[in-house]
Amino acid sequence: MSPLRVRTVCPYCAVGCHLDLLVENGRVVGMAHAVDSPVNGGNLCAKGNAALDLLNHPERLRTPLRRTRSGWEPLGWDDALDLAAQRIQDVLRRHGPNALGFLSSAKCTNEENYLLQKLARLLGTNNVDHCARLCHASTLTGLAPVLGTGAATNPLTDLARARCLLFVGSNLAENHPVAFRWVRRAKDRGAVVLVADPRKTPTAWIADLHLPVRPGTDIALLNALLHVIIRDGLEDKAFIRSRTMGFQEAARAVRDATPQWAESVTGVPARDITRAARLFARSKPASLIYCMGITQHHNGTQAVRACADLVLATGNVGREGSGLIPVRGQDNVQGACDMGALSALLPGYGSVMDPRSRAALEALWGCAEGTIPDRPGLTVTEMEAAAGRSLRALVAMGENPMVTSPNGNRVAEGLGRLDFFLVMDLFLTESARSAHLVLPAAAWAEKSGSKTSADRRVQWSPRAVDPPGDARADAWIITRLARRLGLEPFFPYKTSEEVLREINRAVPPYAGITPERLQGAPAGLHWPCPQEGHPGTAILFQDGFPTPDGRARFFPVPFEPPPESPDADYPLCLTTGRVTAHYNSGAMSRRTPALMDLSPELFVEIHPDDAARLGVRAGRRVGVVTRRGKMEAVARVASTVPRGVVFAPFHFPGTNRLTLDVVDPEARIPAFKAAACRLEPVEEK
Ligand code: SF4
Repeated sequence: MSPLRVRTVCPYCAVGCHLDLLVENGRVVGMAHAVDSPVNGGNLCAKGNAALDLLNHPERLRTPLRRTRSGWEPLGWDDALDLAAQRIQDVLRRHGPNALGFLSSAKCTNEENYLLQKLARLLGTNNVDHCARLCHASTLTGLAPVLGTGAATNPLTDLARARCLLFVGSNLAENHPVAFRWVRRAKDRGAVVLVADPRKTPTAWIADLHLPVRPGTDIALLNALLHVIIRDGLEDKAFIRSRTMGFQEAARAVRDATPQWAESVTGVPARDITRAARLFARSKPASLIYCMGITQHHNGTQAVRACADLVLATGNVGREGSGLIPVRGQDNVQGACDMGALSALLPGYGSVMDPRSRAALEALWGCAEGTIPDRPGLTVTEMEAAAGRSLRALVAMGENPMVTSPNGNRVAEGLGRLDFFLVMDLFLTESARSAHLVLPAAAWAEKSGSKTSADRRVQWSPRAVDPPGDARADAWIITRLARRLGLEPFFPYKTSEEVLREINRAVPPYAGITPERLQGAPAGLHWPCPQEGHPGTAILFQDGFPTPDGRARFFPVPFEPPPESPDADYPLCLTTGRVTAHYNSGAMSRRTPALMDLSPELFVEIHPDDAARLGVRAGRRVGVVTRRGKMEAVARVASTVPRGVVFAPFHFPGTNRLTLDVVDPEARIPAFKAAACRLEPVEEK
């Protein structure tokens, strides 16, 4: 008998590729490419191809573990959950609900994120957040007042239909490789590709024009592009008149943002800025794709709005091949946001400060009026700063803040001060090692649930096999923990489908995305899908914007330099990013031999002139120092990185010990992308 074929969704990035598992006798015996998939047509990148290594990996956690003076002590589930409940209740009794914190996870399903935020709020705190705070929080705060919602306007497959693709701070070729196929297809059909990025990335390799913007100066570049478009009369006047507000104010704000001025700020030649602006405005439909090169700044919210201004000024909204595409990183970061795993927003994006949103959720949950606190909780970095002070206990589901959060030495100190730190994960990660209790979690193919990819496509990923040992789905763990905390009536669920049915009622754009429909939808369903029978909405804003007057808003965006610039002590600029072989904190990809073969160690890229001046030799270790810490990495000497800039991937412990924890005032996202640094020699052993 041939193996059973089970279609699942890749556990890595937010493209949401399908991969078919071959299951025999309860074990995955292989993988087949899902050639009929409308998402990826059978294509997978290196990570997707290596995903099976995560199942039955020898380092998978198989039993709950309690930290003792002499090491780790295995526990049964009853003892582990009793211990967790007792320690949480101790903190509640002695310090109150705001001494608790919950880190939810973009690596978990919608149902699991929904359950964890529900647990936090029923315990009386909004201290629930997840790693969107570290990657795309500024997309939410930036776009919500502009477009009425903070998500990608068009499906990723739509990139193939664009006549112009402008990438700003997005290295799609390396970070979302399968989606980059659509870019290549557009290019083959004659589309113009423009890439603004400090580095000549693989995305920039196929660009018609590469704009090597200095780290932290994207707003100056975007304003200059808008300046040229308006100066040359290339704006879409009919669209601006009929569908937007605030254009005159935005135009006034960029009056002095000439290409010559922008050249002095960004380092991009004025003639290239002019050419890029004209190409973007004249080649319709055009898409603007941005990622963490835009969002991870002290002014990330404003940078996102500057992107939106360009798209609105050229009328590139509401049609095939156009749009604004913030490319989310992790497989379910969009869904975790949609589910309200955020300190200030409830499921469906109602504010915690809005009495009607709170009351609607309390009515749905059947809890007492006033259960959900009316003030925003602490964000990821705020919880880390408060750890061991006002925050006494932290529950982390699939998050590894010791590697992913900025100013990592401060994070480690904070986590070390906690009265109780509980981690649920697949592996004993860097963060789990500092926990008091570690609970073994199921991987993607070992549990059922829905996930929402970068383009709002909600997909069902079924359980194909059992988890190893005593590992359990996060939903199972949260539900059992909640029941021990006295919340049994609110956590009656036996299946993920039951949780999704509650989500259908809690999150209006998901109202029509029922388990039955989703399980029978090979291409998933794009939200908003407001009722059963609705086909879903692949392209947003075709008829109007979900704003009070149905119009989008331009925002004047002033340029401000980064908070930390190179100086005599720290003369270089450290910027961070991703590589194809790795994913987020590396907890999964660094344990995958095929991926480690591709990218085995932490490295830094340095321009050959800087390397020669500083005596740095390719392939040798070099020290990188900022005001917050030091790391060692292997030097790669390459002219793909500009003079004065040092690039480091953030998937290995070390990089985020150096990064800056200054945050954007609205999104409270840290300014990862530009930190002053210096290089130091390392004694060869
Ligand atoms: Fe998985 Fe993303 Fe690669 Fe697709 S592009 S296989 S979703 S990591």
